[in-house]
Amino acid sequence: MLQSQIVKQRTLKHAVKATGITVHSGERAAIELCPAPASTGVIFRVNVNGKITEIPARSEFVGDTRLSTTLVRGDAKISTVEHLLSAVSGLGIDNLYIDVNSGEVPIMDGSAAPFVFLIQSAGIEEQNASKRFIRIKKRVEVKVGDKIASIEPHNGFKVTCEIVYDQKVIKRTKQRETLDFSTTSFVKEISRARTFGLLSEYEQIRSMNLARGASLDNAVVVDDFRVLNEDGLRYSNEFVRHKILDAVGDLFLMGGNILGAFEGYKSGHAVNDQLVKAVLADRSAWEYVTFDEEAEAPVVMFRSLVAA
Ligand SMILES: [Zn+2]
Repeated sequence: MLQSQIVKQRTLKHAVKATGITVHSGERAAIELCPAPASTGVIFRVNVNGKITEIPARSEFVGDTRLSTTLVRGDAKISTVEHLLSAVSGLGIDNLYIDVNSGEVPIMDGSAAPFVFLIQSAGIEEQNASKRFIRIKKRVEVKVGDKIASIEPHNGFKVTCEIVYDQKVIKRTKQRETLDFSTTSFVKEISRARTFGLLSEYEQIRSMNLARGASLDNAVVVDDFRVLNEDGLRYSNEFVRHKILDAVGDLFLMGGNILGAFEGYKSGHAVNDQLVKAVLADRSAWEYVTFDEEAEAPVVMFRSLVAA
């Protein structure tokens, strides 16, 4: 019997917890991912001394983009949300409560893989409501100094990033990469890419009393000659793949999964945030769409839970 299948919203089957070190304050923090009703969106519930503030994972709450993406509401804030949101976006989760007892999401191993694992262990549940995509209708581009980020219409979700490092070790790797979600798996190709830094920058950041939790356990660190991590790289061009991972997380702050093609040249959280804000500010640049027949949906990874 044929039954018409809509692309449905997704949440978790069960709540799931994790603890880990936060990269900036260097403290131990706990997060709990909890199922949320249809059309809730993704909401951080930040517990500071017993007072809980709900901060939706949306662009209007982005407060600081210097070292990571930070969401702010009143006197509550939550930093380093981008890798967790990248996992949420990559697995097509629409509705989720994220309970945190700290001002920062634990850095885990510096990639999105531990969050992917958490979500997959909790199980993904389809909800009885149509999934709402944000479809890009026209090209929007922003420049910040020599950094460029753009998005344009595309029947699917595609992310291209280019990094330009003169640094010897990074220069040896392919510095431009594209992930097309219709053909490539986020989980396999992107989610394991770790954040990275140069040893010299790392020492400077540490002297500013930032990144107190940073170590070779949660970042790829390179000096002038080599990758300092014992096991080397997880992908031959892990550096640019991590930029794609960050962009997937930052773009989710538009309010959900996007249909469009993003391109970032030397992009980072600040320029990604400006792009998201520029798109949202231009009401003719985007629209909400739903798919009432599963076969119509252009993004293969969202068609079936088996694929997740
Ligand atoms: Zn990152």
